[in-house]
Amino acid sequence: MSITENITKFRALLPPQVQLVAVSKFHPAEDLLEAYNAGQRIFGESRAQELTAKQKVLPNDIEWHFIGSLQSNKAKDIAPFIHTIHSIDSPKLLQEVNKQAGKHNRIIRVLLELHVAQEESKHGFTPEECREFLQNFNKDAFPYIRICGLMGMASNTDDTSLIQQEFQTLHSLFSSFKESFFADEDYFCELSMGMSDDYPLAIQEGSTLIRIGTSIFGERKY
Ligand SMILES: *Cc1c(COP(=O)(O)O)cnc(C)c1O
Repeated sequence: MSITENITKFRALLPPQVQLVAVSKFHPAEDLLEAYNAGQRIFGESRAQELTAKQKVLPNDIEWHFIGSLQSNKAKDIAPFIHTIHSIDSPKLLQEVNKQAGKHNRIIRVLLELHVAQEESKHGFTPEECREFLQNFNKDAFPYIRICGLMGMASNTDDTSLIQQEFQTLHSLFSSFKESFFADEDYFCELSMGMSDDYPLAIQEGSTLIRIGTSIFGERKY
């Protein structure tokens, strides 16, 4: 199927509360443009350099999301235009994003990345670290960022009951943090989970943002 057909298929199948992030890392700008022309406006990238290069040559009304691990010293490169950063995994990174957003007088939406999968290597706060961080978080000290929710990845496995369990864990952490720390903040409403192999389960378990690469663009090209 073509990129256009894939975008059309996803738009038809997604329930209204779920948005599609088209993960375009390692695909050339012309592929993004094809998705754009099919109506897609939210794109996710995982490397700052690749993202800034594409942002320069693609239409201005694209909503750019950063989904990969972000080094603090790269925050300044994407701060002028980034809409949402899904992968905040340390207080230090959050501080830097706030500082760089301030230089452009912008508010950047961020999600806190949680580690719930079995794999050792994945980034993210543990649930306990995240709760402790939010307990001490003073919103007024961070005027240029808005914590809009959580992001997570399930284990890379064929065990669907494990994947489902991990998505349920993410959802229950989201609900618990919402109640404890963001009860009056309507903007705390996003749960970013689900990729090409597991998005149906993620949607079933309450995802609001699915991050789809391969099922739209095919295998990554470089
Ligand atoms: C690459 C990537 C995706 C997309 O994965 P696919 O399996 O190609 O859909 C989603 N989320 C993150 C964080 C990624 O790095």
